[in-house]
Amino acid sequence: MNHFIRKTRLPLKFGLIGKPVEHSLSPLMMNTVFNELKINAIYVAFEVDESQFQDAIKGLSALKFSGFNVTIPYKEKIIEFCDSIGKKASIVNAVNTVKIIDGECLKCYNTDVDGVVATFKRRGIDTKGMETLIIGAGGAAKSLIIAFDMLGIKKIFILNRTKTRALMLAKLLQSRIDAKIVILDGEIENIIEEVDIIANATPVGMYPNIHECPLPETFILKDHIVFDVVYNPIETKLLKLARKKGAVAVSGVDMLVYQGAATVRIWLNVDPPIEKMRKVVINKLRGWYNQS
Ligand code: NAP
Repeated sequence: MNHFIRKTRLPLKFGLIGKPVEHSLSPLMMNTVFNELKINAIYVAFEVDESQFQDAIKGLSALKFSGFNVTIPYKEKIIEFCDSIGKKASIVNAVNTVKIIDGECLKCYNTDVDGVVATFKRRGIDTKGMETLIIGAGGAAKSLIIAFDMLGIKKIFILNRTKTRALMLAKLLQSRIDAKIVILDGEIENIIEEVDIIANATPVGMYPNIHECPLPETFILKDHIVFDVVYNPIETKLLKLARKKGAVAVSGVDMLVYQGAATVRIWLNVDPPIEKMRKVVINKLRGWYNQS
């Protein structure tokens, strides 16, 4: 165990700030990590109003938190408070993990990108030279674009409900990556056989709208790898259809767990119990689903 963990007898404190945070799975996942690794630490979610955002950040430092996660709607807003910012966070202009050094210095990272990279690497999918279709152009899409570029994907088609947002995303990211970004106007039929991966980066299909699908069934082919960032339900309608067609179906649960694992490595420099993290997340999601 490293020095950082042994030095104090008070629990290390970690948190999550966002709004809303009520249904976040991070407290469950992180406290499971601490229990499993017998680390004297706690993780608490805080719902923070925008008008009190700065006070909340100062408060976490004053209370000697060792780090915190940032979620919607503050992933960009946090940047002005960062003392240093990791490369991936800087490219996507979004931070989801902060490490507090000596109660004052905020080192900021983006582990959503790591979550996507690990999702594909851990499955042994060789993505080099592949082409992908991303549906959506928000925060998750940004992380996917950077991750896919890191994975050696050569062409990324983006289809978004609001085309101007997709164009802005391409403008922001194209000069920073090798993969070529192509914005679609809706003409999916021309490219669907060309792409290897279909990735949903919208909330379409998320609970309670579980019968929605971001793409007509006919566009899902058996040779596709279909990845959905949505993790509630674990298997979305899109993934069900993919499985039915014989395609590879990858749930957003993987991204969630691997981004959490990357955060744990940043905060504590330890190997997280990934399978245990996945198990508690899946059990919790199944519990929610069975109650509904
Ligand atoms: P965001 O920044 O608000 O972007 C949402 C995107 O989805 C936009 O491109 C939006 O299109 C599109 N969209 C929203 N509703 C739509 C609809 N009904 N039909 C078509 N397009 C729609 O949100 P985000 O942060 O990217 O999050 C997107 C999803 O990813 C959420 O469900 C979130 O929970 C999930 N997520 C999962 C993980 C994970 O670890 N698995 C991590 C991050 C996010 P417009 O531009 O037209 O509005």
